[in-house]
Amino acid sequence: MKCFQGENFSKGELQRFGNIELSPSAGILNYGQGLFEGLKAYRKHDANILLFRPEENAMRLKMGAERMCMPSPSVEQFVEAVKATVLANERWIPPPGKGSLYIRPLLMGSGAVLGLAPAPEYTLLIYVSPVGNYFKEGLAPINLIVETEMHRATPGGTGGVKTIGNYAAVLKAQSAAKAKGYSDVLYLDSVQKRYLEEVSSCNVFIVKGNLIVTPAIKGTILPGITRKSIIDVALSQGFQVEERLVSVDELLDADEVFCTGTAVVVSPVGSITHQGRRVTYGNDGVGLVSQQLYSTLTSLQMGLSEDKMGWIVELK
Ligand code: PMP
Repeated sequence: MKCFQGENFSKGELQRFGNIELSPSAGILNYGQGLFEGLKAYRKHDANILLFRPEENAMRLKMGAERMCMPSPSVEQFVEAVKATVLANERWIPPPGKGSLYIRPLLMGSGAVLGLAPAPEYTLLIYVSPVGNYFKEGLAPINLIVETEMHRATPGGTGGVKTIGNYAAVLKAQSAAKAKGYSDVLYLDSVQKRYLEEVSSCNVFIVKGNLIVTPAIKGTILPGITRKSIIDVALSQGFQVEERLVSVDELLDADEVFCTGTAVVVSPVGSITHQGRRVTYGNDGVGLVSQQLYSTLTSLQMGLSEDKMGWIVELK
């Protein structure tokens, strides 16, 4: 794990993964002043180590830090720190095709603060863990339920940044859904309660013929890096792509539905349950469009196809 303390993020040091010391009145513990990122390192067949668009994570962290009243590292500092952490943990990167190394940068208000205010000090930690598939289903379809009571974000709130509180907000709905056998929850907008937002930890897309549609970024959903990449990949493959409001009715009428995220990559959705009605897609199979986009993205991330977009950063 790499740990930076102080305001300018220039004096990071590598430490063995372990507990850290924090004041009981640290900003992150009391007022939720915490932001994280998630990215992956893949081992290529020739033993190179590949990162996927790490500067996008740096820029999203910057945007989030601004919303959460925190300082943030520069894009260069962030990318260099990620590289150093990965190289120091090279032995944990799974062999090609066997998974990846998940990288978790965590920026927090580590200084003590009692009255409500931004913390006086900040810490950036970067730790890693080898991972396989996020959903136990792998590329097999996942089953989602539309949540009609609880929301993960409201306009003007912090739903559009990767702050820790957003994840606390989804635990109840997600746990209830999992207890009933669903893979995860699909959230609706909190105003009109009929437009799709996203899943607890991934973005959502629907497919109808040659048209691929995803909810527009408007402050209440996370601007996913996989989402942005899939839009570009889909456009380059001749699909029509729209970012706009997507109603539940349109979702239930889609040919295919899939989710995107660093952890889930592209996960096809086999069924959606909404107010007791269950709609299945592609006979519970993996839709052709989802499969095609999954293959294109994963072969790019693993270094198996030419990086025409310039998205891959090679570490060695
Ligand atoms: N939405 C939420 C709420 C998430 O936590 C994530 C995972 N970071 C995503 C979407 C997907 O973002 P990305 O593709 O950058 O991983």
